[in-house]
Amino acid sequence: MEQGFSRGPLGSSYIRPARLRRLQLPADSIPSQRTPDAPCTLPITRQAEQVQDPARIALALEEIASLLQLNGESHKARAYARGATIVVTLGQELESLVRDGQLTEVEGIGPSLSRQISELWNTGSSSLLTRLHATFPEGSAELANLPGITPRRMQALREALGVHTIEALRDACLAQRVRTLRGFGEKTERRFLESIEAREHAPEVPKRMLLADALLITRRLQRQLVGHGYADQLVLSGAARRAQEVLTELDWVAVGARKQELFDQLARSTLLMRVDRERGTAATPEGVPVQLHFADSEYAGATLLWATGSEQHRAALVARARERGLSLDADGLRDAGGDRASASADEAAIYRALGFDYVPPELRGTARLPAADSGELSELVDANDVRGMVHCHTLYSDGKNSIEEMARAAEALGMEYITITDHSPAAHYAGGVDLDRLKQQWEEIAEVQERVQIRILRGTESDILIDGSLDYPDAVLEQFDVIIASIHNRFKLGRADMTERLVRAMRLPIFKIWGHALGRLLLQRDPIDCDVDAVLGALASAPGAIELNGDPYRLDLPPEWVPAARALQIPFVLSVDAHSTAGFGALQYAVAMARRGGLQRGEVLNTAPASSFIERVRPTIAERAD
Ligand SMILES: [Zn+2]
Ligand SMILES: [Zn+2]
Repeated sequence: MEQGFSRGPLGSSYIRPARLRRLQLPADSIPSQRTPDAPCTLPITRQAEQVQDPARIALALEEIASLLQLNGESHKARAYARGATIVVTLGQELESLVRDGQLTEVEGIGPSLSRQISELWNTGSSSLLTRLHATFPEGSAELANLPGITPRRMQALREALGVHTIEALRDACLAQRVRTLRGFGEKTERRFLESIEAREHAPEVPKRMLLADALLITRRLQRQLVGHGYADQLVLSGAARRAQEVLTELDWVAVGARKQELFDQLARSTLLMRVDRERGTAATPEGVPVQLHFADSEYAGATLLWATGSEQHRAALVARARERGLSLDADGLRDAGGDRASASADEAAIYRALGFDYVPPELRGTARLPAADSGELSELVDANDVRGMVHCHTLYSDGKNSIEEMARAAEALGMEYITITDHSPAAHYAGGVDLDRLKQQWEEIAEVQERVQIRILRGTESDILIDGSLDYPDAVLEQFDVIIASIHNRFKLGRADMTERLVRAMRLPIFKIWGHALGRLLLQRDPIDCDVDAVLGALASAPGAIELNGDPYRLDLPPEWVPAARALQIPFVLSVDAHSTAGFGALQYAVAMARRGGLQRGEVLNTAPASSFIERVRPTIAERAD
């Protein structure tokens, strides 16, 4: 289609075609040989009682996740929660994957998850869920979410009163039996009743979705709708196109749609629920609201522009149009006589017609518009600029692939270098590498280097310890080619202590890259509490850089902090934090966050050739200036 139309945050705009093919390693979906053009199986009809329903299986997996969480198995819980989303997005494809025993080929589905999904598909029940129900009977997951309920309290209620649902708790409170338990009392009883009451009247919490999952569902929808000819194009728009990390609404623009057939197909699909033909609304199975927009190709650019937002950005464009005696809305750009301009077909043409340079979607969060031919955005970093795969784990710690496999896969993606950065000893739960194994790893790197073109750099992801020191002796640290310094424990440290810990680490006179800076896990763990300005200040006056971690759950440093770091002239690296070769797909998210922060290619260290990158990040311990 017209230039400018298919540009998207994670689409093709900043990846030139030759590179595109190489970069399409899936970060978050099934391996590429299955992804692009696997034939659609015949649509299955959804019935409430149907056992083989992805949405029902997803619900079961979500319940398993909640119960695992109650059981203190949070790592596993996360895998099952993610599994629920993956199952939904796989939709009808689940059938053949289960049948052919190929579920574990899907990124994010391990052997245990695969077993439970197959059981749910084939028998309608899961042995794990049954086992968990022995300890946490049905209703427990819901009860666990009630304010004031802790795992210990749940256990007491269960054992002393046989209470394991919200309804049973209400009855027990009303019968004044809860106050008889040790450590509960009248006040607790009253609070429980208040919480139960409040819960019934509380507005529904908005459902949220990761950007990576929005892309996953988009690919599936495209296959079902565009693949079957119900629309010419289906483009993810809205906040997702602006690369917002967490979404509370999804928008798609369908161009050239055969509406009737498209909606018939959606009614059969398990990807969307509650489809409203009149309003073009729907919801994902998780409950995230969806808006569908429709356009003919003559004004598709305007519709896409409109549906992508942001509101401020749109308002600025509308104001400029008015200044020029034009009008702009979702149906097109029109002249004073009301005739639609041909530019309406294409976003870039609309910007041009209004006297601006094209603004990539990631930069449409504000009203700022670059004057035409200003070249203001020409240095914006893009995926083609990245020459080195930074932050990679291997079998030496908690990665799934060998050094050679990681190196060869990065090379196949056109990378000139890769940094192997396994965990340091303090991260024992992640198989942190002790000195003996480190020596072994360096020998293996030297051996593999003989066989591959790509430069393999010896690195570490060293823990920032509680006192702000790094987790290897200086004499060892100096021998690495690159050091990423990250926090992996004590996330709850108070603000003052956390700031002190980080400031000390950043001030170390050795070059370090601040890894996944604020330690957040989207939808799961809040960022650490610290004075970010103070830590950036410390980093700016010491040797170091900061990473934009592309793991879809991290996206850390959060993009809103990028301008502050740039103002201090702190260099960046775009990293993948890959734990397998499929993890390289995270690069697209790191790039998207960088672009949201307006990062220029010259500010990103791993856009440099290997020799200069090595020179810049070498962790030689400098004499302290102060
Ligand atoms: Zn880490
Ligand atoms: Zn890592």
